[in-house]
Amino acid sequence: MDADNKEVFRDSISTIDEKGKRSWIYPKKPKGRFYRYRTWVSMALLAFLLSAPFLKINGNQLFLFNVVERKFHILGFPFWPQDFYLLVLSMLVGVVFIILFTVIYGRVFCGWICPQTIFLEMVFRKIDYWIEGDKGAQIRLAKQDWNAEKIKKRVFKHALYLLISFVISNVFLAYIISSDRLLKIITEPVSEHIGGFVSIWIFTGVFYFIFSWFREQVCIIACPYGRLQGVLLDNKSIIVAYDYIRGEGKKGRAKFRKNENREDVGKGNCIDCDQCVEVCPTGIDIRNGTQLECVNCTACMDACDFMMLKTNQPQGLIRYASEENIEKNEPFEFTVRIKAYTAILTVLVVVLISLLTVRSHVQANFFRVPGELYQVKENRVISNVYTYKLVNKTSEEIDSLSFQLLSHPNGKVKLVGTDHLLLKEQAIYEGTVFIEIPESDLTDSNETVELGIYQSDKEITSTKTHFLSPKNKW
Ligand code: SF4
Ligand code: SF4
Repeated sequence: MDADNKEVFRDSISTIDEKGKRSWIYPKKPKGRFYRYRTWVSMALLAFLLSAPFLKINGNQLFLFNVVERKFHILGFPFWPQDFYLLVLSMLVGVVFIILFTVIYGRVFCGWICPQTIFLEMVFRKIDYWIEGDKGAQIRLAKQDWNAEKIKKRVFKHALYLLISFVISNVFLAYIISSDRLLKIITEPVSEHIGGFVSIWIFTGVFYFIFSWFREQVCIIACPYGRLQGVLLDNKSIIVAYDYIRGEGKKGRAKFRKNENREDVGKGNCIDCDQCVEVCPTGIDIRNGTQLECVNCTACMDACDFMMLKTNQPQGLIRYASEENIEKNEPFEFTVRIKAYTAILTVLVVVLISLLTVRSHVQANFFRVPGELYQVKENRVISNVYTYKLVNKTSEEIDSLSFQLLSHPNGKVKLVGTDHLLLKEQAIYEGTVFIEIPESDLTDSNETVELGIYQSDKEITSTKTHFLSPKNKW
């Protein structure tokens, strides 16, 4: 590459040609240990992703993100509008987590966990290899005229794409509207669920478009996380990196010659075989340095390791390393910075999980009836009237509820209009009560009182409210 012009590859992206047209990428099928590990991780994540909306804890869907009806379940914990602070906190923790994680581990998420990469590389791309063959066969098929073979392969491939897009669309909707409602749409007459039926097909179309045509451009053009890499990565972040010191040597990269000692003649370890470029699903040359398009899929690491093995050179010419590691020729190690950031990430996750698990499943609020003061009853017992609201956040009915005054054991809570409290699942119940406390037990005219909410003899939550009395007048 021309020395004055060595950043020229940054002026264009690999998926668009000079005329601005789509340049289709046909990556060579990767093979190697990283691809094998990624396949196992992907299978586990796919199984989780596809089954999570159908798994329930205490009757609650494991994950639900019903934005329209403001119903959210995370790890089986239902979030109500009353828990909005927890949702906001989860999002803040999520943002901090993403930033710290990316600063340390670069785009590891993109290569190993992101559903877009997993579906594209581990599902749809495998269909391409299975039906059309490897890179060369795919290019030949694309160039050849339409004949029976091409029609058969393309129809079969796109039918499979459509079928898988349909499955993804259903699962996606199960996360949004709940798996119970999705099952109703599927099993009941279409006329009763026109909206749901249309939504399934709209999302099927969107996923089909993404995986059959838009493909790697999601990561290159559309994904906001991908766009953030430029500001989050620094020279200490772990990335898929080409060791240019080793690869270029003193005289630069050069083709492999049998029985030649490359070190003696000053040639670098890179044999310029282009295998790392051939397998790249975003069509880049990692030897140009870190690039926005690189999703850290590790395919080039496997390809290069294979070539190093073939040419009797040490593996890891392309490897997980920071730019600083490469520059100083240091092996990767867990630095103090990585350990500190990882500790912060762990603390954030533990705090969030603790907040979720200690949260009460029943929320109670008592409000004094506006405009009402207090009543002085027989034996100078003071009475205040309240409206109360109980929220059952669980998917189970809670029967035999009662209230007790925890702060004033001689006081009483008297229900109005009912003597039996039953809280239906995921429901809100409102009512009225009188709280009566002997004046001798009070110390202030506006006193804080604490109420316990009991199911049979077990306290399930407590709350505080204010109690007015003529106390300071006497
Ligand atoms: S450069 Fe390597 S790690 Fe990055 S996308 Fe291409 S093949 Fe994957
Ligand atoms: S696969 Fe390795 S040896 Fe071959 S061109 Fe890429 S970096 Fe050089």
